[in-house]
Amino acid sequence: MRTFTKYEFHNLLEDKLHKQRMTTVNEATNTDLFYAIAAIINDEVHQTALETMKRHHQNKERQVSYLSLEFLIGRLIESNLINTGFKSVCDEVLIDLGKDPRHVYHEEEDAALGNGGLGRLAACFLDSIASLGLAGNGFGIRYRYGLFEQRIVSGEQIELPDNWLKEPYPWETRKFEETVIVNFGGTVDYTIDEHDNMHFTFNNQEKVQAVPYDVSIVGYHNDVVNNLRLWKAEAFNRVDDGHGYDNRLNYMNNVERISGVLYPDDESDDGKLLRLKQQYFLVSATLQTLIKRFKSIHELPLTQFHEKNVIQINDTHPTLGIPELMRILMDEEGLSWKEAWYITSHTFAYTNHTIMQEALEKWSYDLVKQLNPRVLMIIEEINRQFCLDISEDQLKDLSVIDDGVVHMSRLAIIGSFSVNGVAALHSDIIKKHTFNDFYQLDEEKFNNKTNGITHRRWLLNANPGLSRLITSKIGDSWIAHPDQLRQLLDFKDDENFLSELDAVKVKNKQHLKKVIFQKTGIEVNENSIFDVQIKRLHEYKRQLLNVFHIIYLYHEIKDNPTMEVQPRTFIFGAKAAPGYKRAKEIIRLIHAVANVINNDDDVADRIKVVFLENYNVSLAEDIIPAAEISEQISTASMEASGTGNMKMMMNGAVTLGTMDGANVEIDERVGRDHIIIFGLSSDKVIDYQNNGGYRAREVYQTDERIKRIMDELNDDTFTNGKSFNDLYYHLLKDNDPYFILRDFDTYVDAEKRAAALYNDKKKWNQMSLVNIAESGYFSSDRTIKDYNEDIWKLN
Ligand SMILES: *Cc1c(COP(=O)(O)O)cnc(C)c1O
Repeated sequence: MRTFTKYEFHNLLEDKLHKQRMTTVNEATNTDLFYAIAAIINDEVHQTALETMKRHHQNKERQVSYLSLEFLIGRLIESNLINTGFKSVCDEVLIDLGKDPRHVYHEEEDAALGNGGLGRLAACFLDSIASLGLAGNGFGIRYRYGLFEQRIVSGEQIELPDNWLKEPYPWETRKFEETVIVNFGGTVDYTIDEHDNMHFTFNNQEKVQAVPYDVSIVGYHNDVVNNLRLWKAEAFNRVDDGHGYDNRLNYMNNVERISGVLYPDDESDDGKLLRLKQQYFLVSATLQTLIKRFKSIHELPLTQFHEKNVIQINDTHPTLGIPELMRILMDEEGLSWKEAWYITSHTFAYTNHTIMQEALEKWSYDLVKQLNPRVLMIIEEINRQFCLDISEDQLKDLSVIDDGVVHMSRLAIIGSFSVNGVAALHSDIIKKHTFNDFYQLDEEKFNNKTNGITHRRWLLNANPGLSRLITSKIGDSWIAHPDQLRQLLDFKDDENFLSELDAVKVKNKQHLKKVIFQKTGIEVNENSIFDVQIKRLHEYKRQLLNVFHIIYLYHEIKDNPTMEVQPRTFIFGAKAAPGYKRAKEIIRLIHAVANVINNDDDVADRIKVVFLENYNVSLAEDIIPAAEISEQISTASMEASGTGNMKMMMNGAVTLGTMDGANVEIDERVGRDHIIIFGLSSDKVIDYQNNGGYRAREVYQTDERIKRIMDELNDDTFTNGKSFNDLYYHLLKDNDPYFILRDFDTYVDAEKRAAALYNDKKKWNQMSLVNIAESGYFSSDRTIKDYNEDIWKLN
C-alpha cells in the first residue's frame, strides 16, 4: 500500500470530488467527501486485493472460508483508513478543509447484516484473519434490508425496515460474471444403471441466480486484502418461467425475497421456509464457487479438496452445507458416497453459540423436503449410516431426524471434524450436558475457542484518547501485539497516569452526555457513574434484574430523601426481536420507570435512566469508551460468551457480572479485586433446572423489597392504565425461569459494592487500568490464532 503526504492526499481528494461527485473541495458536502475518500481507499485496496489473491493462488495456499448468515459490520471507513495507514493524513486534510472528520465518517450507513454478538463476531474475525495475513474469506448474504431500525414511540418499540442501500454502498463490487445457480424445491427421480449407480433427475425446480457482491477486508498495515462475498438472489428473465407478465413479476419478487431481509432470531412461523431458503442459498452458492476455484487453482483431484479447504460454520445456520457438498461431489462430480463423505467430514468445522434448547435449530422434515428433496435424501442417508453404530436407547438424543424433526446441531456435529464452544465455561457445558452423548463418542472433536473482539475497532478507533495515552506510555507495539497492553500494569501506582486515565474517561463521558442529550433531551450528570447495559433484549440477559435494582434504589431514595447516594446514570441500549412480546414489555418497562424517575424532583441528579434507541455498532462505539460499569448479568450458564463484556473491559469499564460466559475468564485474568461478581453459579442453575428446588413465590413472599417492586408492576405506579401484570404473573406462575428473584439480593449487594468502590477514585482507576491491561487476551487476533493452530492449520 502506498503512503501519501497531505498534499498528495488533498490532490487525490480534489480529483475524486471532480470526477466522481461533480463538485469541488469548497462546495463538497460531507456525503461527497465520504464517497471521495472511499474511492481513494478503494483504488489502493482493490490493487492489493488482486495481489493478495494472486499470491494465494501461486502458493496454492490452504484457505479457510467463514460461512455466516450474519455479518454485523457497522461502518467500514475508519477501519479501512486505519488498516491502510491513511487515517491520520485523511484526518488532517479534512481538518484543513474546516471539516470534522468524525462527521464525514459518520455519513456511512451501518451495514447491519446481523442481529448481535454472533454477527459482530464474524465481522471481528474477518478483520483479524486479514490482519494476521491468513488466507481466509467470508461468505454471507447481501440482505436488501438488514436488522430493523428501532424507534421508540410513546415508550414502546416500533420496527422500521433498515433501508441501508438507499445510497450506493461504496465498499462492494458486483461480480455478475461469477454468478452461480441455486436450485430449490421440485421432485427427484432416479434410474439405476448396469453398474448399480444411481442417476438423479430433477423436475420443476426453481432456479435462482446467486450474484456475488465482494467487499474487501483490509489487513492492518500488512498489504493483505481478503474478501467478504455477499450473495444476492436474482430471477432469470426467461420466456418459459411462468405464464403471463404478472406471473413472471410474481416469480421475480419471490426470488428476490430470498436475499430480501435479515430475520431477527425469533420463532416466526410464516418466515420459516424463506429462512431455510436463505441458508441453502448461501451454502449452495458458496460451495459451488469453492469447488470451481479449487479446480482452477490446484491441479489436484477433488478427493484432496479438504486438504486445501476448511469451512468454519458460524452456528448451525450454514449446516446445510454438509449435505450440499455431498450432493455436489456425488451428483455433479461423480464421486462415491465414501469419497464424498470423507472429504465433507474433513472440511467442515462447527462453532456452537448457544445451549438453550429453544435456540437450537430444528426444522420440520416436510419443510426440508420442500426446500430441496435431494438434500433431504442425503441427510437421511448420513443419519442412517451414523445410527448404525449407536445403541437403540441413544437414538432419541443423537438421531439427526427424530419425530419428524431435523436437528441441525446434530447434523453439524456428525458432519464436522471440529466442534467448538466460544468460552471455556460454555465449551465445558457442551461437553458435560448439551452434547454429552456426542462427546462420549468422539472426545477429540470437541474444543474451546474463547471469543474475541478486534481491538483496532473497539479501542484504537473507538477510543482515540485512551489509545494515545497508552501509546504515550508503552509505545505503539500493542497495536500489533495487544497482549503487550499488560505493560500498563507498571503504572498501577503511578498517580499521574491514573489521573490521566481518569481525564480520558471524563472526556468520553462528556461526549456521550452530548449524544444522550441530542438523542433523548435528557441532561445527565457527568459526575455520576455511567452504568451501562447494551445488548439484545433477551430474558436470559436479564435487563429486568437491572430494572428491579433501579426501582429498589428509587424506593430507597423516596423512603429516605436525604440519604447520601453515589449518583448513577443507568444507560440501556437494546433491540427486541419484533415477535418477542415479553422482551418488548421489558423495553416498555424501562421507559416507564425512566419516565417516573427522571421526572421526580426528589431524585434530581442522583439517578437517571436513559434508553438509547436503535442500538447498533456505531452507537456502541459512542457508548463503550464512556462506560464505567459493564453490566454482564445473564443467568449463569446461558450466555455462551458475550463480547460486549470484552469491549467494555478494553475501554476501562469494570465488569459487574455473573460467573457466566467469558466473564469467568475476565475474572480469572483481572482477579477478584478488579471485577464485581454475584449470583448463582452455572452448576446451581443447571441443578435447579434438572432437579427443581427453586420456588420464586417464596422469594416474593419473604423479601419485602421484591414484593414491593413486583406489586408495582401489577398496579399503576409506572403507567396510567396499562400495567406490567404480564411480567408479574410470568415471574410467579412460570417460577422465574431466569432466576431474577433468586439473584436479586446478591445483585443489590454487588451494586452497593460497586458504588462504594467508585467512591475511592484512585482505587477505581486502578481497577480500570488492570482491566485495560488484561484485555489483550480478548483481542480476536488471539482467538483467530487459536482457531488456526488447532482447527484450520493454514500456512
Ligand atoms: C458487541 C455487540 C453485541 C454483543 O453484545 P453482548 O453484550 O455480548 O450480547 C451486540 N450488538 C452490537 C451492536 C455489538 O456491537
